Amino acid sequence: SAGHLIKATHLAKNFISSVLKAGDVAVDATMGNGNDTIFMAELVGDTGKVYAFDIQQKALDETKIKLSNQSLLHRTELIHAGHEDMDQYVKTEAAAIMFNLGYLPKGDHHIVTRAQTTIRAIEKGLSLLKTNGLLTITIYHGHPEGLDEKEAVLSYVKNLDQKLFNVLYMEFINQANNPPLLVAAEKK
Ligand code: SAM
Repeated sequence: SAGHLIKATHLAKNFISSVLKAGDVAVDATMGNGNDTIFMAELVGDTGKVYAFDIQQKALDETKIKLSNQSLLHRTELIHAGHEDMDQYVKTEAAAIMFNLGYLPKGDHHIVTRAQTTIRAIEKGLSLLKTNGLLTITIYHGHPEGLDEKEAVLSYVKNLDQKLFNVLYMEFINQANNPPLLVAAEKK
């Protein structure tokens, strides 16, 4: 559809699709309605695994139905826990990790990702990444907690050691109303 290619969520998926292969492990740090979980479950195949996290039971319930309908549920672990605890559940290296920050579309707009836990989760995600693995972060900063979170995330990723990570930051420069931002970090 028109204006679909240059869209933060689409760009994030494009990056991920170039690294995530059959048999890989991936993490969806913010399951929500399950779009990224489904996307990555398709890529990892029957021999791979996608660990998906959300603090809302509603996200797990809806994602589970969608995955079942597409016969993809067996490729996933849906975890009702905060992404800041992902290291308790993911014990192997991951090829791809996606963060889609903010609130659940069509859900409770008061339940949002927050700077402190988001940073802890990104830190853990980066240490789970395998060499040439990729972590993407789509940042929405138009809601009250979003501005703090944006600043915390950008200052954290800016200071990652360039010997260890390549970090890219993309923003829309001609759009009103706080368009989403995209960060992609590749482990060297
Ligand atoms: N990628 C999702 C999709 O395809 O629909 C959208 C994700 S939505 C923008 C952000 C999600 O993060 C919400 O569902 C929210 O409940 C969840 N969330 C908030 N804090 C969290 C945390 N600490 N750990 C994991 N998920 C969290």
